[in-house]
Amino acid sequence: MDGNTHLLEASADAGESPEQAAFRARCRAWLATNIPAKPAFALPLGPIEISSAQQLEHLRAWQRAAYEAGLVGCDYPEAYGGGGRRSCQRVANEELQAAGAPFFPNIVGLGMAGPTIFHHGTEAQKRRYLPPLLSAAEIWCQGFSEPGAGSDLAGVQTFARRDGARWIISGHKVWTSLAQFADWMILLCRTSREHKYAGLSYFIIPIASAIGRGVTVRPLIKMTGGTGFNEVLIDELVVDDDMRLGEVGQGWAVAMTTLLHERGAGTLATPSAGGGIGGDEEDALGASGLPALARASVRAGRPAADDPVMRDKIVQLLIRERALQQTRRRAQHPALCDHPQRLPLQHKLLISELLQDAARVACELGGMASTLHRADPNAPAGGRWPLAYMNSYGFTIAAGTSEVQRNILGERVLGLAKSK
Ligand SMILES: Cc1cc2nc3c(=O)[nH]c(=O)nc-3n(C[C@H](O)[C@H](O)[C@H](O)COP(=O)(O)OP(=O)(O)OC[C@H]3O[C@@H](n4cnc5c(N)ncnc54)[C@H](O)[C@@H]3O)c2cc1C
Repeated sequence: MDGNTHLLEASADAGESPEQAAFRARCRAWLATNIPAKPAFALPLGPIEISSAQQLEHLRAWQRAAYEAGLVGCDYPEAYGGGGRRSCQRVANEELQAAGAPFFPNIVGLGMAGPTIFHHGTEAQKRRYLPPLLSAAEIWCQGFSEPGAGSDLAGVQTFARRDGARWIISGHKVWTSLAQFADWMILLCRTSREHKYAGLSYFIIPIASAIGRGVTVRPLIKMTGGTGFNEVLIDELVVDDDMRLGEVGQGWAVAMTTLLHERGAGTLATPSAGGGIGGDEEDALGASGLPALARASVRAGRPAADDPVMRDKIVQLLIRERALQQTRRRAQHPALCDHPQRLPLQHKLLISELLQDAARVACELGGMASTLHRADPNAPAGGRWPLAYMNSYGFTIAAGTSEVQRNILGERVLGLAKSK
């Protein structure tokens, strides 16, 4: 049984409304003829790996097409550029994934900025920012982490100083994915140094239009050799008060909405990053891709698939993958979800570690050849597994490290004592 069958099986379980069933048929019909052909250039493994304008424009055109076909922003009100449907985004996401569609590039916009603006924005902010966010006409990035504040997010030091009806902002953000392409940033910063949490406020700030006028974006080179995230230096950037999201001093509550959605536990039917299938078939880079790789790899003169140790490792990973698929099905049945945050939070933790462990075993199967660069014609499977392995560390860190994710699950879901 392949991953697509699981998804279809899962959706059939869910007892869909007539609106959802009709919408599913519509999505499936559109996707059957509208998925773009693979371009001649390499696509990144995921949205936060986009490193060239060429990759971005290809994926942006895809998001725009899917938006115009009604597959993005389905559950947002029409006044904000959405489809005005009910509980249909999940259906679209499942169909995108089942069809092997490329991912959407505006991941921070769709997954974090959009829901945050929807919940906390003024009417004018929702009407201004949501439509181009959904269509990918405007790209978003997230300015939360700083050199001295990552897991301890409330320790951010970027400061916004009030100046009449304006704010003057200075600070240093880091690990800012997609900032090199972004039009806008959601920014968590300090408006008072007296109180840790109550001293935080939340803003929308311009990036692309403010380069050289208070904003500097410096791409960071990752161990893959690619870029993807950046340092963002903010120096006396002036923004109007209508760029503030939520009340002064309420930034922590607004940021919690962002994090809830970033960690997968949001309540709004959020347009996800789309199919989630990378340009390099992310699915095939999970545990389910290992049996074929083991059959094609040689160990001690024999197919690696005959090695009992390797077989055992692969089967263990396949069991974990299957368990995650079953968990996804369980998440659709409220009666099986004892705590609203348990399944989404544990999903981020478990899938990021599973992808990492699967990529590690794949590199083991490739042996010394796994050290060959992706551009080397002798690299096994085009060097995609070592690349996936290096990138996998990003997923176990971003949106809360595995350690922090375990703390949150322990404290909020299991009710254990707080770690500090
Ligand atoms: C690929 C990638 C993309 C990212 N994109 C963005 C982005 O777009 N915008 C943005 O704002 N940020 C982004 N980040 C930053 C990310 O949110 C932070 O890296 C993350 O929150 C961890 O913070 P830190 O790096 O400062 O590590 P630290 O917080 O300094 O942690 C260092 C180590 O200590 C451990 N640790 C810390 N606190 C605890 C604790 N209480 N209990 C147990 N262990 C603990 C951590 O698990 C980690 O192993 C990105 C990161 C990555 C890797």
